[in-house]
Amino acid sequence: MTPTPRITIWNEGRHEQRQPEVAALYPEGIHGAIAAGLREHGLTARTATLDEPDHGLSAAALEETDVLFWWGHKAHHEVADDAVERVYRRVLAGMGLIVLHSSHFSKIFTRLMGTTCSLKWRPDNEKERLWVVDRSHPIAAGLDEYIELEQEEMYGEPFDAPPPEELVFISWFQGGEVFRSGCCYRRGSGKIFYFRPGHETNPTYHHPAIRRVLANAARWAAPTGGPPPVFGRRPPLEQLP
Ligand code: ZN
Repeated sequence: MTPTPRITIWNEGRHEQRQPEVAALYPEGIHGAIAAGLREHGLTARTATLDEPDHGLSAAALEETDVLFWWGHKAHHEVADDAVERVYRRVLAGMGLIVLHSSHFSKIFTRLMGTTCSLKWRPDNEKERLWVVDRSHPIAAGLDEYIELEQEEMYGEPFDAPPPEELVFISWFQGGEVFRSGCCYRRGSGKIFYFRPGHETNPTYHHPAIRRVLANAARWAAPTGGPPPVFGRRPPLEQLP
């Protein structure tokens, strides 16, 4: 059990470099805004970006990470396969992974899911209402009946990810589509949460309820401890006749 999870927020960071409107919205980067939101809820995080050596995801850095946040969009293909392999193995060994918005197409998420993770989309700044559909879930703690975002990109069903093991949110969009916006999975000893909103030109990561969801998700996804699983042929625990 890790009372205070060690968190790394990974961000591609390219929109902030190339689009002034994104840099204005997120002067500390999307990763910086997420870290600030977690701080409001008593959590601290280190950040890492694509352009750092090893993308900031060296074996040593991952070894000291209990929960990894992932935001990517334009540069999924620039993420080195060996970094993806290291993250994949850490998730199976128990590291939590929070997959944000356009990271549905990241190498790490599609590998963990085994499907295309395709969906419908429309970047027209329409209203999104995220309904809490599992009141008992720890990720929904402290939330109202729904979260309303005045302007977001639309993602619509079908979402070609496996059926979530737990579904926390369903989004409704002004244009009429719906989407499974908060999906929980387990792979090996690791917990994975996909959370839909967070388009780079919208102020979503400044929204108080979104920040609460991300903090709740970090605590939910943190490893619960215990010995690593044992596989293969074993001697009996009791004497056999
Ligand atoms: Zn987007």
